[in-house]
Amino acid sequence: MEEASETLDAFVGVGHQVGVVGRSCGGEGSSYDPEARRIEICYEEVAEERELFQGAGHHPADDEVVAVLVETVFHEAGHALIDALGLSYTDRGEEDAADQFAALMLLRKGVSGERQLRVAAEEYGLSAAEDEMVEGEAADEDEAADDDEHAPDRLRAANHLCYLYGSAPGRNSDVAGSTLLRRARAAGCGKEWALVRGVWMKNLAPLLRGQ
Ligand SMILES: [Zn+2]
Repeated sequence: MEEASETLDAFVGVGHQVGVVGRSCGGEGSSYDPEARRIEICYEEVAEERELFQGAGHHPADDEVVAVLVETVFHEAGHALIDALGLSYTDRGEEDAADQFAALMLLRKGVSGERQLRVAAEEYGLSAAEDEMVEGEAADEDEAADDDEHAPDRLRAANHLCYLYGSAPGRNSDVAGSTLLRRARAAGCGKEWALVRGVWMKNLAPLLRGQ
């Protein structure tokens, strides 16, 4: 969290400081509070992520939990920047842009960030599989998922893998043609990532100019 918030400070800088706090959220998810200008990361999610990865055979899953936390902080930082820059999006568009900002921040770290983005995609894949299992058992009790502004987890996984593959296809060719990232989409990921990256770089330009 400290590493991610230092990176964030470099972008948001003077006049728009954003705090990052870890707290118990009582069932609410991690979020960005625009009034307090604060990113709140929930302790409960750390335990949930650990359980999810351990259930998939990762022990002790420390690196995986860290990767997901870093991606979460950058996702919330994306919301903070959208707020700071006064960008306007639909709810779903803002969530997609926040995911794309997280991908940008991870990919600029190089190989270590690529690995974390891959783990974050795996988390969305695992979480989608878990939800699908629950839905199979109780199809009517899916109201919470219907209210969610985020893209479905399976799509969030595919998006992250697409950006990963699109940014460095040579190192990540194994993800193209996987169950989460179909070969047909993978073929366009180089262009897709260039576009996504270009939009964020353009949006960030006013902040980067001062550096
Ligand atoms: Zn969000």
